[in-house]
Amino acid sequence: RSGWLGKLKMGLRKTGNSITAAFVNAQIDDTLYEELEEALLMADTGVKATEFLLEDLRRRVRSNMATEASQVKLLLADAIADLLRPLEKELVIGEHTPTVIMVAGVNGAGKTTSIGKLTKHLSNESASVLLAAADTFRAAAREQLLVWADRNTVEIVSQEGGDPAAVSFDAVNAGKARGKDVVLVDTAGRLPTQLHLMDELKKIKRVVARADATAPHEVLLVIDGNTGQNALAQVKAFDEALGLTGLVITKLDGTAKGGVLCAIARERPIPVYFIGVGEKLEDLETFKAREFAQALMG
Ligand code: GDP
Repeated sequence: RSGWLGKLKMGLRKTGNSITAAFVNAQIDDTLYEELEEALLMADTGVKATEFLLEDLRRRVRSNMATEASQVKLLLADAIADLLRPLEKELVIGEHTPTVIMVAGVNGAGKTTSIGKLTKHLSNESASVLLAAADTFRAAAREQLLVWADRNTVEIVSQEGGDPAAVSFDAVNAGKARGKDVVLVDTAGRLPTQLHLMDELKKIKRVVARADATAPHEVLLVIDGNTGQNALAQVKAFDEALGLTGLVITKLDGTAKGGVLCAIARERPIPVYFIGVGEKLEDLETFKAREFAQALMG
């Protein structure tokens, strides 16, 4: 399947172009490293990960006795792939029935779309899925999730204007009673101003554990790959509040600032279960460090 890698490359081409440009006619000198630094920073790799990568690269260049810029380019791809590799992890279901997956993310990140895609992915693996519409604050969110449930022909627990924690509790119980393999809980991305989002999400997490003491088994954060360093800030904030087990990074087919994955790997290494490379049901891919590094390099 070459399609998604192509889309990823298209999305990351800006970064790829500036990294490639740094190598044109280049000697292996300070100018090369400076240009690479600039390209990495522009891709939102962040200061820490950029410093780490360039030091790592200098080491690799020395130990390989590289003399050509083209060799250095390959070594940088290796360095990026090695940095990202700890983020590779497969989402495992089946250890608990149902596996309860709570999904968080700020509005617009692509949360609902990702839940639709994830439902399709799990259904393809013959897992039965129940959706929980726990974003009860926005009528539109509920309606959108109903559409995705319909498209995937899966059941959904939802209650107009209900309490998000109560809906989640009911959904986990329904999942148990109906023998579902997975319960996917869609949560709010923004609340009416007087309520605190993190408190609401923590409450859902607590109440879900009352329906099943081992749940939730996964707490995923969906982040928009275009938001650059802000994505890292979101990862930190949600992780501190909820204890994240995995990430879904969306919109990497767009004008993505893919370097943020390096920043996440360096500063808050939470597994990236999936990446989003489009708006359609099938545009969800498992994250592979080597392929991603290659796409990033152009
Ligand atoms: P939510 O508010 O977090 O639930 O976000 P939505 O799921 O409604 O998505 C917001 C917008 O981003 C929609 O227009 C989606 O079609 C779009 N979107 C979501 N994921 C992707 C992706 O991987 N690639 C692209 N190009 N668009 C996406």
